[in-house]
Amino acid sequence: MRIGQGYDIHRLVEGRPLRLGGLAIESPVGLLGHSDGDVVLHAIGDALLGAIGAGDIGELFPDTDMRWRGADSAELLREIVRRVAAAGYSIVNVDLTIHAERPKMAAHKAVMRERIALLLGVFPGAINLKAKTNEGLDAIGRGEAIAASVVVLLFNDQVTE
Ligand code: MG
Repeated sequence: MRIGQGYDIHRLVEGRPLRLGGLAIESPVGLLGHSDGDVVLHAIGDALLGAIGAGDIGELFPDTDMRWRGADSAELLREIVRRVAAAGYSIVNVDLTIHAERPKMAAHKAVMRERIALLLGVFPGAINLKAKTNEGLDAIGRGEAIAASVVVLLFNDQVTE
């Protein structure tokens, strides 16, 4: 068994499409980033890389590299999932918390869970998705940013000793 933890935060700005959890969400503001800024997929990717001891998403896809400019984070996550499988691990479960004052997450949670499960190649039952506001406090509470924190558990059935 291996555990991994991931966290990410991006700024919300006007005039950017909002990509969150692999979904395009109708919103007057979107997440700023070198890629599409999808904090949820970035935090999941970091948790997976952490669990297999493979560094972080910034090392794998540097924001100084033009190849990743405007990149679909789902594609970046697919590459990470491929590495997890190549290392001999399968995903046991993912526990994810989205910290966002806006937009409201309730309407998107079920679809996002399905989307993340599809991207990770697991059943939706392996994904738990929680959404919290920040009670009006700090940048997230003011609606200036969205953050995500994730814990994943992996299982390696190739270990024989
Ligand atoms: Mg990020």
